[in-house]
Amino acid sequence: MKVNMNYKNIAQSYLFSTVAKKVNEFASKNPDKTIIKLGIGDVTLPLCEQVVNALKSASEEMGRQESFHGYGPEQGYEFLKSSLQGYYKEHGVNLENDEIFISDGAKSDLGNILDLFDKDNTVLVPDPVYPVYVDTNIMNGRKILYMNANQDNEFLPLPDENVKADIIYLCSPNNPTGAVYNKEQLKKWVDYANKNNAVILFDSAYECFITDENLPRSIYEIEGAKTCAIEFCSFSKMAGFTGTRCGWTIVPQDLVFDDMSLNKMWLRRQTTKFNGVSYIVQKGAQAVFTPEGKKQIQQNLEYYKENAKLISDVLTRHNIWHIGGKHSPYIWLKCPNNMKSWEFFDYLLENVQIVGTPGSGFGKNGEGYFRLTSFGSRENTQKAVERLDKFLG
Ligand code: PLP
Repeated sequence: MKVNMNYKNIAQSYLFSTVAKKVNEFASKNPDKTIIKLGIGDVTLPLCEQVVNALKSASEEMGRQESFHGYGPEQGYEFLKSSLQGYYKEHGVNLENDEIFISDGAKSDLGNILDLFDKDNTVLVPDPVYPVYVDTNIMNGRKILYMNANQDNEFLPLPDENVKADIIYLCSPNNPTGAVYNKEQLKKWVDYANKNNAVILFDSAYECFITDENLPRSIYEIEGAKTCAIEFCSFSKMAGFTGTRCGWTIVPQDLVFDDMSLNKMWLRRQTTKFNGVSYIVQKGAQAVFTPEGKKQIQQNLEYYKENAKLISDVLTRHNIWHIGGKHSPYIWLKCPNNMKSWEFFDYLLENVQIVGTPGSGFGKNGEGYFRLTSFGSRENTQKAVERLDKFLG
């Protein structure tokens, strides 16, 4: 038996373990100091009432003979797919029902989709990057090319005709930088992919944070995207489903390469390897799209957005270069006085007891940058902002 030796090539990530170790050490030496964590990438507000009610009533249905559900359709129940069709229509995107696949989250499908592609494809990812895109391809033994995201291109790299890639990862609004592509920029990527017979894997997990109507929430708002892009999205950040698990993937019918329909291949893949998301969870997800559900999740999103604004405002007041925070829960800042990412981490922890995430943990271009998030409580965010204001002043 031979194991998959590609696993040897996956870089060990010490990012969050090192953060935790440093925080624990500081806390044990300074028991009188309160540490505020602004490094979290997980939501903190609970599920909204409308979702909880839907989960409860679906659970009760499962306990009655006449409304019990066994195995469901692997690609998702019609009721949730038609709610999503309506959601996309609000942004001017028309999808066929069979182009929508319900998943247990964006991360799973971002990894699973690679079943459809040959090992010899060249993969293009931005640096800094959400590590899942890199690690899942290394597990499969694929070659990865990096494109530089930096201050010069406002962390939004555009295609380079001299670089030939087959699989391109784009994430907008971006984790970790919070940068958002506009329609003209995305159109360049769509044109590049169509011209070069490449596929774009578009991660829109944070689309719900976009407030500017002119910014694209889906890649299918761009003409030509249905022949080159697969979109991954999630209820995680939109409705607090990180612990409940539900997302969706769009595979258009027009995605045909070498006479093979990616939509049919994905359906085959899912019906073979995936059992679908539970009826109860899909009912909870459907409740997100009811008028009351929409209002309630919006209140939670506004809460995070206000936190982001508080953080962004204090950085602006002290002339610290940053992006994100506007259409994203992430604020990406340049460490003052040319400090390195870990240096700034230690500096904040020791002086103001604020914990963030060193940008260097997301790739070489992240060195010298730092990520703060708006997922903390309002009280803690305000306290952190006061401390920063005093200290940076
Ligand atoms: N994509 C990005 C860019 C993320 O930051 C995350 C989670 O933090 C995910 C996908 C994962 O989403 P899910 O919870 O749906 O798996």
